[in-house]
Amino acid sequence: MNLVRFGSVLTLFAFSLPAALNAQDYKSGIEWQMPPVVTPGATDDAPPSDAIVLFDGKDMSAWEGGDWRVEDGVAYSGKGNIQTKQSFGDIQLHIEWSAPTEIKGEGQGRGNSGVYLMGLYEVQILDSYENETYFDGQAGSVYKQTPPMVNAMRKPGEWNTYDIFWTAPRFKVNGDLESPACVTLVHNGILALNHFELMGPSSFVEPPHYTVHAPTGPIRLQDHGNPVRFRNIWVRELHPPVGKRVRAPYVLKGGKEIPYAQAEAEKLNEQQRRMVQDAVQKAVQKALREAEAERKKQADTKTEAKTEKKDEAASKPEAESGAEPSPKAEK
Ligand code: MG
Repeated sequence: MNLVRFGSVLTLFAFSLPAALNAQDYKSGIEWQMPPVVTPGATDDAPPSDAIVLFDGKDMSAWEGGDWRVEDGVAYSGKGNIQTKQSFGDIQLHIEWSAPTEIKGEGQGRGNSGVYLMGLYEVQILDSYENETYFDGQAGSVYKQTPPMVNAMRKPGEWNTYDIFWTAPRFKVNGDLESPACVTLVHNGILALNHFELMGPSSFVEPPHYTVHAPTGPIRLQDHGNPVRFRNIWVRELHPPVGKRVRAPYVLKGGKEIPYAQAEAEKLNEQQRRMVQDAVQKAVQKALREAEAERKKQADTKTEAKTEKKDEAASKPEAESGAEPSPKAEK
């Protein structure tokens, strides 16, 4: 019995090792540079400190091409597309636009313009307020590639905001596509495109397909013959966080630095050790149970044997009395 209890104590000990002994702190081994501090604008629509202002209501000096006019702090689309003088790769772009208050035309002919990222990939601008057209051509669509997830249009004459998060496509040295362009669009604060992978530049006449091009390109605004107004346009160039691997991943455990691969191997060994320990304990307990059962069996056999002896002894006088009566008794 005592041995059985000892086995249970062993099992309990194995499963209640203090958690602190097993605690580990993973370290990536990458030395990250401190992310630059950017001061936000007074409101989320205002350009933050690292933004390049493309139009602040004063003039269109950041743009070239097209014949667009500026009036009362607003740019009106005119004859010809316009594009930024500067080229961009990965960007965050804020742009506000408004379709004419007076509704003229229908479908694609109503408040049509467009933001062409890198001069090639169009996020559609259209008066899509109660104005049906093909869905992959409505406001917020990537033209002829995908509709937006929702129609978040404000009424004609009201201002819409587009916040566009753009990842430029990457090409291999041989000109093959390495990774496609991706776009996320927040339209009036509502997510309309969520990291959509483009199939290539926008085309009216053929399916989209990639052809190698420069890693940066201008932002182009489309003239589609409809007067669309623009204001408050700014852009931020995106740079991923910078880090350098200075050592292999490791863990801090019990005050020691252990390479992650070694810590994993030790964890595996510990698991295997516990499995073996568990198996041994089970075998020991089984043996103990069997030994106990055997002991009981033998004890029972002994008791039976004793009882039989007693019975035998008790039955002897009876046997004697069962002998032929003595001649005396007959008298
Ligand atoms: Mg358009």
